[in-house]
Amino acid sequence: MTAKNNSASKKTIEDRAKEDIKYMKKALAQAKCAIKLGEVPIGCVIVCDGKIVGRGFNKRNTRKTTLAHAEITAIDKASRKLGDWRLEGCTMYVTLEPCQMCSGAIVQSRIDRVVIGAMNPKAGCAGSILNLLNRPEFNHQVEITYDVCAELSCEILQLFFTDLRKRNKAEKEARKKAEQAAAEAAGESEVQS
Ligand SMILES: [Zn+2]
Repeated sequence: MTAKNNSASKKTIEDRAKEDIKYMKKALAQAKCAIKLGEVPIGCVIVCDGKIVGRGFNKRNTRKTTLAHAEITAIDKASRKLGDWRLEGCTMYVTLEPCQMCSGAIVQSRIDRVVIGAMNPKAGCAGSILNLLNRPEFNHQVEITYDVCAELSCEILQLFFTDLRKRNKAEKEARKKAEQAAAEAAGESEVQS
């Protein structure tokens, strides 16, 4: 390889890294939409030829279906937009490592590459528990890039769960106070009668 080729390929790698950050931030913006609905913030975008063709964020509780994961929504939208179930040539950017259902859908839809923010040791099937994206037995393997905006992806989840715990605690205390007040009122009325 000549020096010129070397620098050209290096630039391509740098460009790809920049692009990965740019689109992961779009996926993070999707995750923020989930917070507004009180949903666990996980966001996803699918990119084809430099254009976003599908977006999605977790709406599992709102839609009351396990199928409402960010990745499934984004795959559905991209397929509608491109008019094809095959998403060859597409890259998915997702803020949290996909579960077994979404990893299966990614392989089935023949997405070329998946870029992942944070890992999910308790449910991830793109390397944590198992890696469905790279099974040689399947007829399609997906290239994976890990650790893109991982800190931001973790942070948004941590903030959500810290806030949720605070709200749950406050609700529990309010309920306890209301129960105490009701018990005291009942006690007073017994004394009076
Ligand atoms: Zn999933």
